[in-house]
Amino acid sequence: MASGPDFNSKTKQTLAKRAGQVCSNPNCRKSTSGPHSDETKAINLGEASHIRAARAGQARYDANMSDMERAAIINGIWLCKECARRIDVDEAKYTITLLVEWKQMHEKWISNGKPATQQTTIPLVDIELVSVKPSSAFAQFEIQFAYDIVLHNKSSAAISDIHVVRTIIPDNNKQKMLVRQPSQQKLIPFQKTINVLGPAESGNLYREHLPSYEFMRMNVTYKDQYDKLFRCTFEGDRDGLHLTTKETLRREIGAKSAFDL
Ligand SMILES: [Zn+2]
Repeated sequence: MASGPDFNSKTKQTLAKRAGQVCSNPNCRKSTSGPHSDETKAINLGEASHIRAARAGQARYDANMSDMERAAIINGIWLCKECARRIDVDEAKYTITLLVEWKQMHEKWISNGKPATQQTTIPLVDIELVSVKPSSAFAQFEIQFAYDIVLHNKSSAAISDIHVVRTIIPDNNKQKMLVRQPSQQKLIPFQKTINVLGPAESGNLYREHLPSYEFMRMNVTYKDQYDKLFRCTFEGDRDGLHLTTKETLRREIGAKSAFDL
């Protein structure tokens, strides 16, 4: 049997089936099979694409791989013909990390019965500070004001595992705080707000919260329904925060490194 870097027909068929005969690009999801005008035939508009290239000179080539590894199903992703072309001409945009993520997300989406959430693969999270009265227990710290952090999920996707990291600038008053929302308590669609702080965490916040700061930055990380990890940065002061960056984190990043600022 030939053992080149190309996928054999069994691998191609399995990739197509695992992908539900649908393009794995989350922004495409075109059906890759359909009826042929000849009633005895079906048409195939899909392609088993290499995540790491089959040959030198092609996109995402890894010289350290063997041909057997290149032809393995783990190195394949099922795409429509159009997306297959696209990923092969723009290596900078369609990285190995991105394609692996597409494949994992897609197979999970297929397994879940194709939930209708295509347009919300990036949930929209908003954050606000709500002033609350400092408890008398903190009088010794001369606290003048305190707040709760409220997250709003404005998308139709459930999110969970919410982490909030706060830093305060300038440097001489730099502080860090971490708030965690347990994964069991999912922020589901249209459930507008949650108070992130539990009583213990509120205690930390009050103690740290001095009225002298001028500027604050918060990083919020959370997971969507596909277990994809996101990080948003909000900046502002106690009168309000606004979103400054939003990025997708690699799935493999553990909670700890996601908090590094
Ligand atoms: Zn496609």
